[in-house]
Amino acid sequence: MVRNNLVSFRRREEKPAQGDDVSSTKPASKVYNSILELVGNTPLVKLNRLPIEHGVKCEVYVKCEFMNPGGSTKDRIVLAMMNDARNDGVVHDKTEFVEATSGNTGIGLALNATLMGNKCTIVTQDKNSSEKVNTMRLLGAEVIQTKNGALETAIARRLKDDNPDTVVILNQFDNEINPRAHYENTGEEIVAALGKVDFVVLGAGSGGTLSGVGSRLKENNPDCKLVAAEPDGSIMINKDGNPHPFLVEGIGGSEASIVLDKSLVDHVEVVTDKESFLMARELAKKEGLLCGGSSGAAVCAAFKAVKSLSIGPGKRVVVILPDGIRNYMTKFVSDQWMEAHRFLEPPQHTMKWWTKP
Ligand code: PMP
Repeated sequence: MVRNNLVSFRRREEKPAQGDDVSSTKPASKVYNSILELVGNTPLVKLNRLPIEHGVKCEVYVKCEFMNPGGSTKDRIVLAMMNDARNDGVVHDKTEFVEATSGNTGIGLALNATLMGNKCTIVTQDKNSSEKVNTMRLLGAEVIQTKNGALETAIARRLKDDNPDTVVILNQFDNEINPRAHYENTGEEIVAALGKVDFVVLGAGSGGTLSGVGSRLKENNPDCKLVAAEPDGSIMINKDGNPHPFLVEGIGGSEASIVLDKSLVDHVEVVTDKESFLMARELAKKEGLLCGGSSGAAVCAAFKAVKSLSIGPGKRVVVILPDGIRNYMTKFVSDQWMEAHRFLEPPQHTMKWWTKP
């Protein structure tokens, strides 16, 4: 109601929710003491249009890890590893956190370090997006970029050897707190929300999500099958693959880390860069899910697995979406980038000019 240029509102009568009324949102009533209190408890969302368009008849749910405060699933493990290091008494005012990462752990670490007032240095491969590097720098981290992924861990160790009293490496690749955080939180949340899950689909970088979520879901339902999304070019899980560089970030590589429990993997689906990025764009356009390339790879692997394993109606599939599009604004989100990499055909007419009728 508009009266005398003033808009006045009155509380509306509470209406009973309609069957598929998804428009109403309830106001959140909670106040938080720190952004870190918002790590975890991410939503599970049912896919509606995409499964139909891809001929998939089972239920597919996605775990929206991109809704963590730092934008990815890695916030969970950083918080857990940080608490563990604090409890061990290895963190003090002069501590400098150093970590080798594809970027998302670095963002989570830089976020924690800036809140604590500690220094943070991140070593990352130069294929990882400038958006992640800029975010880490904005959060006060020093970023060292390497040409070769295999060098990251060696450089982090060298920094520790040079300053053993101040440098702390939480080391996601062989820290059991990494998979434990996913077992106790990510996996637990899925079980609490859905109960029995028949298939879980996800990619592996450090392997922490795969090991933790996989163990929890299989513990809850011993028949739950784990499908790994392996980028084409990676030989991390698919040892028969043909190793070559690929563009999807955060998953795959040449070596499995200590925390990756490969025995949990029942089935592997290989996904190309093109398939991953096109699926990530489809997730945005058809489901409104603004997620990253490894999420696209995981959903693509899920749809492939539905076909190769004949997963039919009544089965429940969960796919992990590790990060969001913010990290890739100048990459697959951009039509020009997609065209330059031949993942999209250039349009016939790039510009539409306004002409007076
Ligand atoms: N996707 C993205 C974008 C990531 O940054 C990571 C972490 N490297 C993963 C997936 C895989 O997570 P995890 O390290 O738990 O295997």
